[in-house]
Amino acid sequence: MKVWPRSLILSGRKTPFALFVLYASSVFGQSSLLIENVTVISAEQPGVKADTSVLVQNGIISRIGRVADMPEVAEPDLQRLDGGGQFLIPGLIDSHVHLGGQAGLEGAETAKKSRLIDEFHQAEPRSFLAFGFTTLIDVSATPARVDAWNRLTTRPDLHYCISMPFANGYGMAFAPEDTRFDTPYFLYDEKQANQIPEKHVLSDHTAEAVIEKISQTDAICAKVYYETGFGGLFDFPVPSVQLIRDVVTHAQNAGLVTLLHGNSLEAQRFAVQSRVDVLAHGLWHWTGYNGEAGIPDAIRQVLDDVVEADIAYQPTLQVLFGERDIFLPEFLDDIRLEEVYSSELIDWYKSQEGGWFRRRLKKNYVNNPKLVEAFIGAEQETDSRDTMLPSEAGIDRLGRVVTYLHDNGGRFAFGTDTPSSPTYANPPGYNGLMEIRRLASFGVSPESIFAALTIENARVFGIDDTVGSVEVGKVANLLITGSNPMVSIEAYDDIEWVIQRGEAYRRSSLVQIEE
Ligand SMILES: [Zn+2]
Repeated sequence: MKVWPRSLILSGRKTPFALFVLYASSVFGQSSLLIENVTVISAEQPGVKADTSVLVQNGIISRIGRVADMPEVAEPDLQRLDGGGQFLIPGLIDSHVHLGGQAGLEGAETAKKSRLIDEFHQAEPRSFLAFGFTTLIDVSATPARVDAWNRLTTRPDLHYCISMPFANGYGMAFAPEDTRFDTPYFLYDEKQANQIPEKHVLSDHTAEAVIEKISQTDAICAKVYYETGFGGLFDFPVPSVQLIRDVVTHAQNAGLVTLLHGNSLEAQRFAVQSRVDVLAHGLWHWTGYNGEAGIPDAIRQVLDDVVEADIAYQPTLQVLFGERDIFLPEFLDDIRLEEVYSSELIDWYKSQEGGWFRRRLKKNYVNNPKLVEAFIGAEQETDSRDTMLPSEAGIDRLGRVVTYLHDNGGRFAFGTDTPSSPTYANPPGYNGLMEIRRLASFGVSPESIFAALTIENARVFGIDDTVGSVEVGKVANLLITGSNPMVSIEAYDDIEWVIQRGEAYRRSSLVQIEE
């Protein structure tokens, strides 16, 4: 088993978070909060604590105890919440999001509809809170975007990774050739020296040099890629095992977590060989085994290796569901969407222009029968009626992977990849509830889902010193739910209060729904 570099993560990282906590009271000027008579559930402790009171001061949990043992709090502006009959749990963590996107719009439409996108951005932080997500990790953010987010008052805490794309590989291949190398964080490839502008030199783009640059920022993680082209649609160059091992070694020394994008059999083998900390995405391209039933030996072997190497796993089921669901016309009639999208935006999704990504996906399938065949793992009449088949075949394989990992000691870190593509079927916040339901449908227990959403996610990303559990000294990012998440995952759809750094919001105040 790999020894988790916990000490490195905690000691090596600069702590902007701690600084923020120090100033939190002056930033928010908040009063103290006393939650009374509540049942506390926290994944690092067995059982529940009934009839408990929790005191929050300056955004931090300062005391947890029996109701009778709580001190008289003399603060005149003390806010009290009666938690009778309710549950107090840690706020949820989504460790794979992409914030500040274009709300599923593209090209000229983004300029024409910039107001819709602005409104979407205004609602986005509240949408995540409304579904219980009080901490997010944007896995490919820029420091500037994170700063802008952190200036908002009502928002989940945001951490981020910096992307380290391989030269001309996935993560930079879609950018125009003359600007794609403008990132200081790409990894050089000597074999491609001819395809890299001369002003970019190897010494600035080795594993060590790039990790050194990332360690100058507040990022907590570095994201690398192993993507040959989505099962045959593209042909991207990929890094060597040695290069990513170097990244991992230098990242560990700098207190950074490494995350590998990889959803194919080769990519997940590569993750094991290169010893990354986290696999972003489940294994859905079974390369050569796609049509097989059960769990073929080659798949079983790599999953066993992932467990043995203690690599945390983000299944991101909603990537495939998001590509399937845009072909379901009734998806846009789901009234829950009105909690996160304006009615104007939903109307646009229903319009002819709003269907552009659905048409593009369909075109991909129709123009690439080999791709569809590979995805499905069987000969397939590529018929435009069957545009949901590739993602459904992937979902079916991924479901088996998730069940196998759950039954064999896999370590899940909850991440949705919201949004994984310009699909409206990955709505902010709500996508998390959908991901939870999908995990449960593949047999992941309520206990495992709860841990993956809270303490496991915090430990994997080295933020468990501040969040992930209900403990004295931690940031008061908490939820009050009407039912018990250890009994049923529907507790995540039964949230009454969202407490963000000690500030309590009624859930209903965080959703849009206009009259
Ligand atoms: Zn992603």
